[in-house]
Amino acid sequence: MGQSGQVTTSTRIVLASRPHGEPTDDNFRTEHVELPEPADGEALLQTLYLSLDPYMRGRMSDAKSYAAPVEIGAVMVGATVSRVLRTASDAVSEGDIVLGYGGWQSHSVEKVAHLRRIDPGAGVPVSTALGVLGMPGFTAYAGLRNIGRPQPGETVAVAAATGPVGSAVGQIARLKGARTVGIAGGPDKVAYAKELGFDVALDHRSETFADDLKEAVPGGIDVYFENVGGAVWDAVLPRLNPFARVPVCGLVAGYNATSLPEGPNRAPALMGAILSKSLLVRGFIQTEFAAEQTPDFLRDMTGWIADGSVQYREDIVDGLDQAIEAFRGLLKGRNFGKLVVRVSE
Ligand code: NDP
Repeated sequence: MGQSGQVTTSTRIVLASRPHGEPTDDNFRTEHVELPEPADGEALLQTLYLSLDPYMRGRMSDAKSYAAPVEIGAVMVGATVSRVLRTASDAVSEGDIVLGYGGWQSHSVEKVAHLRRIDPGAGVPVSTALGVLGMPGFTAYAGLRNIGRPQPGETVAVAAATGPVGSAVGQIARLKGARTVGIAGGPDKVAYAKELGFDVALDHRSETFADDLKEAVPGGIDVYFENVGGAVWDAVLPRLNPFARVPVCGLVAGYNATSLPEGPNRAPALMGAILSKSLLVRGFIQTEFAAEQTPDFLRDMTGWIADGSVQYREDIVDGLDQAIEAFRGLLKGRNFGKLVVRVSE
């Protein structure tokens, strides 16, 4: 029992085993654990919102990557918006709303130095700190600013166009004066992409997708912001203009893949295109730019939301017990907007 005399029990979802292909229920386990009281410099937090993001599939695997895997038996990682319940630091007060990295659990004890205070009176839901005003929005901003660099009149294409990264890519590119092509799965998402202001919106599930794309970009593509890979990339590659830039941000179409695609080795054709068209194909992880460019991002994005030039959509799922199913859906396009779990009111 803690100093306050209160016992805090956290409900949490841990990684039980590593998935082969699509994650199954058996890969996760729900536990109830008693949390220690916060030590010096720590705070005890109640999770309000948990972000679900495609990168979490990578953390479930122990294949070599840019970040360490979640250990078996450890809490699934994730960004969270939480309320401070008790604190052993002057930097936050009880009742503050903070952005942290609490993971898939109802309560957490975190180092206060790793938290960022969120203003609940800022005119946007606090959950946007996980989406348009958080890591995904920043990913779009940084990938365009540092790699894509769209110029007025150029054509910018992006898939997963109604998700938090893709929707921000399209709207920022439009603000830079580019013509934008949004690629999404199914008619509802295509209609919403048009609402967001994409000049053209295409359904990658359509059998005629490759031809539709060819017709939609008579002048070719200058920036392709790569979020998905797979068949969308196959259709985009022949449309890239000389000196096109390809920020390689994510390849979600393949995150559950258990083998390489069948067919001939296409690496020589890809390298040939990179060479003959002088393509810039540059992978990035947003953390590369975060320390230096987050203040600019927060200033710009806050302004764009306030003046209506950037819109966002959240897909809020109720209850931590829904996280596993919602996460599976994210990897195959069942989410519609930034996927967030409301863990408590
Ligand atoms: P989204 O919320 O957009 O969800 C993923 C979307 O991917 C799905 O909704 C679906 O949209 C689309 N998708 C899934 N499978 C396929 C497929 N086979 N073909 C085409 N599209 C598919 O995700 P985010 O906006 O959070 O992330 C977008 C990408 O950015 C991901 O690849 C993610 O890993 C990456 N990312 C990279 C970061 C970095 O630092 N490099 C940081 C953050 C994100 P639809 O139904 O429209 O097809």
